Amino acid sequence: MAYNTILFDADGTLFDYDKAEKFALASSFRKHGIQFLPDRHALYRKINDGKWKQLEMGVISKDELQTSRFADLFTALGIAGVDAAAFNADYLACLAFGSDLIDGAAEVCRSLSATRRLAIITNGVSATQRSRLSKSVIKDYVSYVFVSEDIGYAKPDSRYFDFVFEKMGLIDKSSVLVVGDSLTSDIRGGASYGLDTCYYNPRKLENLSGIKPTFEISSLAEIFDWI
Ligand SMILES: [Mg+2]
Repeated sequence: MAYNTILFDADGTLFDYDKAEKFALASSFRKHGIQFLPDRHALYRKINDGKWKQLEMGVISKDELQTSRFADLFTALGIAGVDAAAFNADYLACLAFGSDLIDGAAEVCRSLSATRRLAIITNGVSATQRSRLSKSVIKDYVSYVFVSEDIGYAKPDSRYFDFVFEKMGLIDKSSVLVVGDSLTSDIRGGASYGLDTCYYNPRKLENLSGIKPTFEISSLAEIFDWI
C-alpha cells in the first residue's frame, strides 16, 4: 500500500504514557499527603479507563472525566477531604512534563517523515498533550497535532476523522494509515472511517474484541515490514 499520510496515536504508541502517568500520580499523591501504592495506581487506571470509554461513547464530558476520576478514586479508597478538581490540576501540571518516548518512536518518525506526512491524533487534554510533544524530538517530524479537546469529538467518532481530513486536505482514504495501540479508539475509529489500520500491540495481547486491524506490529520498527 502506498500510504503518503500516517496518523499516529500518541499515548502508548509514540509516548511512554505509563511512565508519565506513574510519575504524575506519585507527585500528586505526595503533594496531597496521600500514600501512593501500586494497588492505588491500578485502581486509578481502572477508573480512568472506564471514564475514557464513557467519553468515547459520549456519555460524559471531558470536564466530568477529569474531576470524577479522582473523586471516584478517593471515594473507593475511603479517603475524604481531598479536592478532586485541585488534585486533577496538579496531576495534569505534572503530566505535562512526561515526554518519554516508546522504543524506536523517534527513529521511525524521522524515517517516515522523509517521504510521508505524519500527524498525531490523540484523545486528551490539549495543553497537556501539546506541552509533552513540545518537549520531544517528535515535534520536528509531525506536520499536524489533533487533540480531541480542541476538536470537540474524540476517536473513534467519525467527526474526529472528518476534522483531520479537512484540516490536512485529505481526500483519498486508501493513502492514509492509522497507527495506534487502542483497538476501541484507534483501530475501530480508523477502520469504521474506511482507513487501513496498524495495531501496535507490544505486549502481544490476545485480540478478543472482534475489531480487525489491517496489520499488527509488536515493535514500532516492524512497521517497515508492511509499508
Ligand atoms: Mg494510545
